[in-house]
Amino acid sequence: MTDSLTTDVLICGAGPAGLTLAIDLARRGVAFRLIDKAERPFQGSRGKGIQPRSLEVFEDLGVLAPMRAAGGPYPPVRNYGPDGTFEETAIGEGATPSPAEPYAAPLMLPQFLTETILRQRLAELDHAPEYGAELAGIDQDAEGVTATLTDGRAIHARWLVGADGGRSFVRHALNIDFPGKTMPGQAMVADTRLTGLSREAWHVFGTRETAQVSFCPLAGTDLFQIQGHAPADGEAGLTPEGLNALIRERTGRDDIVVQAVFWASVYGLNARLAERYRVGRVLLAGDAAHIHPPTGGQGLNTSIQDAYNLGWKLAAVLARAPERLIDTYEAERRPIAAGVLGLSTDLLAKAMTRDGMKRGREARQLDLGYQGSTLSMDLGRTPTLSAGDRAPDAPGHDPSGAPLRLFECLKGPHWTLLTYEAETPLAPRDGLMVVRIGADLIDDARHFRGAYGAKAGDLFLIRPDGYLAAVARADDAPALEAYLANVGL
Ligand SMILES: Cc1cc2nc3c(=O)[nH]c(=O)nc-3n(C[C@H](O)[C@H](O)[C@H](O)COP(=O)(O)OP(=O)(O)OC[C@H]3O[C@@H](n4cnc5c(N)ncnc54)[C@H](O)[C@@H]3O)c2cc1C
Repeated sequence: MTDSLTTDVLICGAGPAGLTLAIDLARRGVAFRLIDKAERPFQGSRGKGIQPRSLEVFEDLGVLAPMRAAGGPYPPVRNYGPDGTFEETAIGEGATPSPAEPYAAPLMLPQFLTETILRQRLAELDHAPEYGAELAGIDQDAEGVTATLTDGRAIHARWLVGADGGRSFVRHALNIDFPGKTMPGQAMVADTRLTGLSREAWHVFGTRETAQVSFCPLAGTDLFQIQGHAPADGEAGLTPEGLNALIRERTGRDDIVVQAVFWASVYGLNARLAERYRVGRVLLAGDAAHIHPPTGGQGLNTSIQDAYNLGWKLAAVLARAPERLIDTYEAERRPIAAGVLGLSTDLLAKAMTRDGMKRGREARQLDLGYQGSTLSMDLGRTPTLSAGDRAPDAPGHDPSGAPLRLFECLKGPHWTLLTYEAETPLAPRDGLMVVRIGADLIDDARHFRGAYGAKAGDLFLIRPDGYLAAVARADDAPALEAYLANVGL
């Protein structure tokens, strides 16, 4: 069977990265298809921590409210000693929201619920993943890609994005190296219903890696996620009976009893980074490009933010931006993954100690940015911000006196020019919204002035993905015009 279907973007893999990219392309009106080899949506908890920066991304994509309604905060981590006494520690230290950072603590939401909410948003935008569609061959030329599925169907697309997970078919097909390390031993994860533990804490027993077992109450469900070193008999040991024996051995308690196992898996601990994110018209995103140990809750978050960086660039190039814009995707995202991988492995080393699951500010991903990128224009800076930094939020009021946050003005697929006690020097154009601080957003509490370090006459150009492209002044107008032309505006 060969049917020849044409689209602009083929996304292979409907996990968090593929779904996020699909939503971003859908709201931009880009033609795409989203395929997944699985017969139905994934049902396990896996990545359960949505970090503050990803919450901001999800706010922009219109899924934050249902995610917050479905999930909940992390409970304290309760570390038990051999005598059964315990100490409790908070998972995020000093995580207090501020006007510039509205989300300070990670949200706990099991991955299957995150994916469900992303699919619901995609359905609102009139799209859905196509399940039971496995990519098995890739051919490309300068114009596009022909993707062949296992059932013989061929899909022609101008771009292919491999968001197909750690074992990525796309990465293998492109012969892209995936260097890094595999840590010794194997870990397990199991979503279970159990009795004997309260849901007020994430219970951690045992300090030695091979003897550790933890029970995390999964927000939004009545399940506990059990994690630890895998049993000797691997996945065969992940039955209620097998887990109960392992729990007795590692906790010394017989009152913690697993009644049912809903999803379970044994996996290796890897830290690997693809050597390239792009070959011609094929790109990698998410776990296909980088895999992390689960400590620190970084893998899913880095995957979502890859997609968020790529979406607007693909849309711009498909419209009229020069193709080299796509090269900034690898240039910006690969160093971030390299840094995050260092963080995840460092947290893994710490997880072997009592200090284990404390996650500091770094894990929240709010300080990541694209300083030094060719998209960060070095025209000027303020005392607090320079090009490439994440654009902070700033709550104020609209002209009627109703509360209005800067993030509400940034929400959507457009670029934004913020003027501070200045007129815009740019001609109006599609895709660029001008927000006059003081007129459209009234900064009565001076949150904007404080976060942006703004002075009269400052202009702030903000990318669609919420990073500062430039801090400028009116006489920088020619440079701003040239920059916007280069991104297709
Ligand atoms: C125990 C555990 C705990 C974790 N905890 C966290 C956490 O707290 N926070 C965090 O950020 N991350 C965590 N992670 C990592 C997180 O689960 C992954 O980073 C995330 O799923 C990556 O998303 P993705 O969309 O890139 O890939 P995936 O979710 O792996 O999705 C890839 C999709 O591609 C499909 N596919 C594969 N091959 C093909 C093909 N040939 N054709 C078509 N479709 C294909 C697959 O069916 C799958 O649906 C954890 C992982 C584990 C295992």
